[in-house]
Amino acid sequence: MFIDEVTIAAKAGDGGHGCASFRREKFEPFGGPNGGDGGRGGNVVLLADANSNDLTPFRFKPNHEAENGEPGRGSDQHGHAGRDCVLRVPPGTVVTDEETGRVVAELLVDQETVTLCKGGNGGWGNIHFKSPVNRAPRRANDGEPGETGRYRLVLKTIADVGLVGYPNAGKSSLTNLITKAHPRMAAYPFTTLHPQIGVIEYPERYDRVYMADIPGLIAGASENRGLGHRFLRHIERCKILVLMLDMAGTDQRDPADDYKSLLNELKLYDPVLLEKPRLVASNKMDVEEAQKNLKKFNKKFDVEVVPISCLTGEGMDRLKDRLLELVRQFRDESPEAEIPEIP
Ligand code: GDP
Ligand code: MG
Repeated sequence: MFIDEVTIAAKAGDGGHGCASFRREKFEPFGGPNGGDGGRGGNVVLLADANSNDLTPFRFKPNHEAENGEPGRGSDQHGHAGRDCVLRVPPGTVVTDEETGRVVAELLVDQETVTLCKGGNGGWGNIHFKSPVNRAPRRANDGEPGETGRYRLVLKTIADVGLVGYPNAGKSSLTNLITKAHPRMAAYPFTTLHPQIGVIEYPERYDRVYMADIPGLIAGASENRGLGHRFLRHIERCKILVLMLDMAGTDQRDPADDYKSLLNELKLYDPVLLEKPRLVASNKMDVEEAQKNLKKFNKKFDVEVVPISCLTGEGMDRLKDRLLELVRQFRDESPEAEIPEIP
């Protein structure tokens, strides 16, 4: 199961009440006030954790509360602060306030933290209220309540490369071949039901590229055909797009039509996607049909094409090299784009 959207309810801890008490000891008249402050309530904190993959844990446990602060006590004792409640989310999680619809946080980097709900301050004990005029104050403050809220968490994967294509184009095969992720693959559509992120390693160049295999797009996805556009949000943040085509036309479709409708679906989702640098991976070049189709395709479209075959391994090195080059180019051009700003 892969869950990339959940609603949670969070409540920070209440502050402990302040205490009103007086020092009472033998031979010590008018001992004075000695009630301590209440402790601060714990915060609800989000922590980006690269080891967590999706939002499944929140599906089963949507309510989260931090500890309340302890009340103050006599003899000048302050209450303990409440423990924070730390929620681990995968990097790429966007948090919106359900009531207002505003984005309240976006966690992008591993180990980044954001305080979602602040714990209430503890109340003052009566030691704070003594003054020359009132030397025996009976007044102590209550603790403040902790913040509460309902939030929508949405995971938008952060990968360098987004791999899109029709079902059966060979996306999972490619992911298996050049990354360390091992998605299921088969000759029927939608075997991959959620985005798979694989790492392409370049040991001799001390670099790596993250590639996300986005489940099959088909014409009409914007009207919710097939898996619909549900997974396209995972490529919003990709630096480059690889459009994978079954150049052999195994499923009796024309690769040129596939290309056009892929672009169209991307545009319907968000025209910005078409501004990203893109590359066509022309797959199944081991099939005879593919050579012919590729010639026709190249005449028709002005786009960079890398011919590959996941069966024979043809073109893999070239594809990997191009991906790294494009990603590096992007990094050089916009180093700050690595960490987009929160609107
Ligand atoms: P996905 O739906 O895009 O993830 O496609 P898959 O990777 O599951 O592949 C669909 C089918 O195409 C599988 O039966 C693969 O064996 C086959 N396939 C993938 N790449 C190639 C290729 O380069 N040549 C040939 N002949 N078949 C391929
Ligand atoms: Mg697949």
